Amino acid sequence: DFPALMLDEESGKVRASIRRLTESDLPAGDVTVKIDYTTLNYKDGLILNGLGRLVRVYPHIPGIDFAGTVEHSDSALYKPGDKVILTGWRVGETHWGGMAGKARVKSEWLVPLPAALTSRRAMAVGTAGFTAMLAVMALEDHGLQPSNEGEVLVTGAAGGLGSIAIILLSKLGYRVTASTGRASQHDYLRSLGASAIIDRGEIGSAPAKPLLAERWAAVVDSVGGATMANCVASLRMRAALASCGNAGGVEFSGTVLPFLLRGASILGIDSALCPTPRRLEAWKRLTELLPGDLLDSLTTEGKLSDLPELGAKILKGEVRGRMVIDPNK
Ligand code: NAP
Repeated sequence: DFPALMLDEESGKVRASIRRLTESDLPAGDVTVKIDYTTLNYKDGLILNGLGRLVRVYPHIPGIDFAGTVEHSDSALYKPGDKVILTGWRVGETHWGGMAGKARVKSEWLVPLPAALTSRRAMAVGTAGFTAMLAVMALEDHGLQPSNEGEVLVTGAAGGLGSIAIILLSKLGYRVTASTGRASQHDYLRSLGASAIIDRGEIGSAPAKPLLAERWAAVVDSVGGATMANCVASLRMRAALASCGNAGGVEFSGTVLPFLLRGASILGIDSALCPTPRRLEAWKRLTELLPGDLLDSLTTEGKLSDLPELGAKILKGEVRGRMVIDPNK
């Protein structure tokens, strides 16, 4: 048997407990994976707290990401012993997820663990880091180059997505400005490669005018809301904002003038249903760009029993960098 963090719902309230399960308890799928590591993303925080209407059926095992070793496979794609990663595909939402010793999933949701990564480092990347890479790739496809004028802004900088976006952009040669609400994290953000830091209050309200001074060569935004509206109004000519998250709100308002007068763009980033060829490309680039020691420096390890508390903390913006969880501890 193996441990699992189970969520039950009672009169609208979600409660977590650790239980022992056997393989026969697992849902249908053609590959069974022994999980080495899972992780905590913002979305996991929502799910652990029963928010966002992401989980409709209980009891449920959360965990939108995992990395581990194939134990059984009825698929030609994988054989026992293969190391694999899963991120997204609504696993941990509509299908039991990674906060357990084992998972059974569809083989087409998996990607091979790149040889240069360990399961732990793959989960230090997780959906948050994978999405940061997708955002950078989308901005590059749109025309972003290190020679473009201006700084690249990363919002929610001390969070998981933001931290990894800073490393990726600085490794690629961009001048990165990090926006954070945590004054205590300035040294940390510089250690990742940020060359300038602004307080999130500076960009936290809707713009007072349709167009603000042109500043950002690009924006990787994990905050959304009024912050996003503010950033759009400060994009340079033909620049784009990659809309990745909603840690600060889902609604934003503004005028069409940045689009009409500056050719501004908003690029939507969806990681959960990202097609496999794009996934493979993103993992290849993450492997090339992320120095292992820097990734380790932003990673904290926890246990299954820590997750309910961590789930509350991430929603309050109190988790720094990335958390990895060894589900067998
Ligand atoms: P995270 O580690 O909690 O990072 C979010 C950061 O946003 C926080 O660390 C904080 O950074 C900032 N923040 C939190 N609350 C805020 C508020 N009320 N106003 C302004 N800033 C606030 O979460 P994550 O896992 O990196 O995810 C970040 C966001 O991206 C989430 O909204 C998540 O749902 C989204 N996401 C989307 C996708 C996708 O496929 N599109 C994939 C992954 C994540 P500072 O303390 O530095 O200010």
